Amino acid sequence: MQEYKFFDQVNKAFDRAAAFTKFDKGVLAQIKACNDILHIQFPIEMDDGTIRVIDGYRVEHSHHKMPTKGGIRYSTMVSEDETMALAALMTYKCAVVDVPFGGAKGGIKIDPRKFSVHELERITRRYTFELFKKNFIGPGNDVPAPDMGSGAREMGWIFDTYRQLSDDINAEGCVTGKPVGQGGIRGRTEATGRGVFFGIREACDNAEDMKAIGLERGLEGKTFVIQGLGNVGYHSAKYMIEAGAILIGVAEYDGSIYNEKGIDLEKLMAYKTEHRGIAGYANAKNLETNTAVLEVECDILIPAALENQITEMNAPNIKAKLIGEAANGPVTDNAHKIIKERGALILPDSYLNAGGVTVSYFEWLKNIQHVRFGRMEKRFEENSYKKILSVIETISDRKFTNAELADLAKGGGERDLVDSGLEETMVNAYNEINELRKHHNVDLRTAALISAINKVGFMYEGMGIFP
Ligand code: GLU
Repeated sequence: MQEYKFFDQVNKAFDRAAAFTKFDKGVLAQIKACNDILHIQFPIEMDDGTIRVIDGYRVEHSHHKMPTKGGIRYSTMVSEDETMALAALMTYKCAVVDVPFGGAKGGIKIDPRKFSVHELERITRRYTFELFKKNFIGPGNDVPAPDMGSGAREMGWIFDTYRQLSDDINAEGCVTGKPVGQGGIRGRTEATGRGVFFGIREACDNAEDMKAIGLERGLEGKTFVIQGLGNVGYHSAKYMIEAGAILIGVAEYDGSIYNEKGIDLEKLMAYKTEHRGIAGYANAKNLETNTAVLEVECDILIPAALENQITEMNAPNIKAKLIGEAANGPVTDNAHKIIKERGALILPDSYLNAGGVTVSYFEWLKNIQHVRFGRMEKRFEENSYKKILSVIETISDRKFTNAELADLAKGGGERDLVDSGLEETMVNAYNEINELRKHHNVDLRTAALISAINKVGFMYEGMGIFP
């Protein structure tokens, strides 16, 4: 099988977009370059007393805004190339959704399923210690978050390690995606999937764009296939189903399944947890390979697993009219061309999966402000609504029930505010890149990168970096 250098793939798309911007070669080269690349190898003691050497990475791609931001991946596929590509994507996705961070990414080259919880804790704490010593973590310089193979538990360990080492009053802002009890924010776990849903919904709401790819407007009744039922895949699918779309196919590492009448997501999740995979699930047809379901007839395909999943090998067989890149880099550059020529619409990763970092931004703001969103205004809003409702009661002779009052006079709490901030961000960014797409007559990936390059390049020019 052909090897795809992930960073090259990202840069190919970058170069295509750069041609539509006004920046000179030097500025463009600086935007593309990875500013800091850290590769560490550190020992940890296993539960049986033996020592293992662990490879860890952190790449800060762009310092045009600080701090830099991006998750930490726990996977055996972690490499310098992958971390560089993912860090670059972080820069572009933050710019696309106007999240004021530079891009970064980390990786620990392990299969987390093969380590005990105590071993994982030791690895995470030691990795954090290494980052701290090398100045690769801190609320003002570089802020990690979850990615594939890591979650709130690991972020809690990172925060706890950091605060032992630093007396920074903003220490809570050194990492996002933390448990709520340790300075996390409500809605972060589901944020990437929720953002994927908002993005696809927005695209499907545009009657003209849908007509161009032979679909009706709206999500209701549309069929979709998802690859990867991790945190992002599961939540994307959940919100799509809630909006009336029908899940007809799922691909996982151990198999792929298909049922044109619809797959019950919660039942499948329960099966997956019990069997550590989806192979053998009874209420659907088990297909021959773990990627076969990507090629079935459907309206929307959501790759939510790994990079380089749709290549020139399988792209000609893909029939979906809309492809939503919930994963980072799931469609290679050549595959993108093939799919585009067929007339399908691709919602690019640099836009579509930016919901996670958007809510990370809200968490970081909460941490450095030392106040929960809604704390100041929730009660005040409720009282104002109640006053308006009581005026309505006096002039209209209509008495509201207590349940109606509670619903109508509800002030925004943290969760509501996070959700509305995320929706606003995804909707605005979509319309911004869709306009650029039409203006330059390009695809959405190129449009998203034009938007990103313009925003990052402007910062470099404005900072007088090149005296
Ligand atoms: N790892 C996620 C991503 O790829 C989230 C990054 C963050 O929240 O900083 O976008």
